[in-house]
Amino acid sequence: MKLFLISSVSLSAVLVILTLNNTSVHTEELSGSHSHTLANYEMVMDTVPEFPYQKTEAEWKEILTSSQYRILRKKGTEFPYVNEYFDSKKDGIYVCAGCGQKLYDSKHKYKSGTGWPSFWKPIDDSLVVELEDKSLFMTRTEIVCSNCGGHLGHVFDDGPQPTNLRYCMNSAAMKLVDRDKLPEVAQN
Ligand SMILES: [Zn+2]
Repeated sequence: MKLFLISSVSLSAVLVILTLNNTSVHTEELSGSHSHTLANYEMVMDTVPEFPYQKTEAEWKEILTSSQYRILRKKGTEFPYVNEYFDSKKDGIYVCAGCGQKLYDSKHKYKSGTGWPSFWKPIDDSLVVELEDKSLFMTRTEIVCSNCGGHLGHVFDDGPQPTNLRYCMNSAAMKLVDRDKLPEVAQN
């Protein structure tokens, strides 16, 4: 119940933020979607396919911090502008906070003005998986780690050249590490 409440509060906050920014929410997307409720949101989570690196919920809770767990395993979203990497210009590689797989290069990071760390491409397309996300009364493309299935964020088509993509990530889902100090990728 506690987790559900936390999740509901943050989902509402995100909806308000998205609505205020009016970047990704359009009225036509909101209409006709009244059947989408938080219950549907949970259903989307349950349809995530199997990923190579598997852990039980109890094991994830043990190795992740509460915010990492809420984002990576429960598809939460952190608040903009108050997260670790949105403003970071530090050089390095962003790896998955759940399993250590490399995801993004700081060279592909750009200032999107959204308050979340944004990239115009992953290091390689094989490192992330796109899933349809019908939560929050709209259809978005969710991005998860291809090794552990951890939720990282979403991708939008309003990014810069050359891809025009904006990979909008959660800082807490990633760790920025030195290029020559990549962690071992967790495997079962
Ligand atoms: Zn991962």
